[in-house]
Amino acid sequence: MNQSAHHIAIVTGAGSGIGAAIAERLAHDGAKVMMNDIDEVSVKAVKDKLISSGIAADHIAYQVGDVSHEGDMQALFARTLETYGELSLVVNNAGILQQKAFVDVSYDDWDKMIAVHVRGCFLGCHFAIPHMLKKGSGIIINTASQLGQIGAAELVHYATAKAAIIGLTKSLAREYGQSGIRINAIAPGPINTDLVLGLSKDWRDAKAAQLPLGHFGEPSDVAATVAFLASDDARIYVGQTLGPNSGDVML
Ligand code: NAP
Repeated sequence: MNQSAHHIAIVTGAGSGIGAAIAERLAHDGAKVMMNDIDEVSVKAVKDKLISSGIAADHIAYQVGDVSHEGDMQALFARTLETYGELSLVVNNAGILQQKAFVDVSYDDWDKMIAVHVRGCFLGCHFAIPHMLKKGSGIIINTASQLGQIGAAELVHYATAKAAIIGLTKSLAREYGQSGIRINAIAPGPINTDLVLGLSKDWRDAKAAQLPLGHFGEPSDVAATVAFLASDDARIYVGQTLGPNSGDVML
């Protein structure tokens, strides 16, 4: 049996890209997965695809909602417990990207970027931890970015939000490690998803050329990192930030 087989998991932002790949990987490993996304059409398409690839219909479900909205997140966790009766893994993955010179970033741009990433991860942890404390176990994986480790011109609000996620992860890991909850982050490098296709072609070409591996990663590469952190093989990983990043950032 695969080590992810026992999980009852929530994956946010599972309607496309990395989140969809994480849901797919966990479900194929045997987990029961509750997907979240803000867009019903895309997350329903992921559910239908997984069922047609052989995943049991009662192992995959979704709840539409905005990760930065308290009521939506409360409903996501309530629905998961109602549907599966349990929760062992939360992957806070939903995210947005916006490329702009810092001087053009509006107050609304700033607030939305921080809300989706930082408030979204905060709420995912806020609703998961009390349940995990009662059980004395649980795993949370927060999606940062290598840009939160090194900074990024024209992506200042994005990189700031991702750096905050690393700080949130390390602090919660220190607070709850001894309670049986393992909290880690991932900091992917450039991965072939719609999010990165939104960046300019010049940026993408320059980035690919400078990567030690010479190419971007795929969503399934990030899903493999999540599957590892969700497994017992990662039992001593706490407060870490793992980097599936084609060698772009070496720490
Ligand atoms: P993606 O393909 O755009 O997927 C992100 C998903 O999150 C989309 O389905 C999106 O829906 C959804 N979403 C956006 N805002 C949401 C909200 N408020 N509530 C719920 N769902 C929401 O992007 P991705 O590349 O897979 O990115 C996934 C995560 O990895 C993000 O946190 C991103 O910052 C991080 N990351 C990506 C890369 C990369 O190179 N791709 C690198 C480092 C980190 P809509 O499409 O409707 O907006």
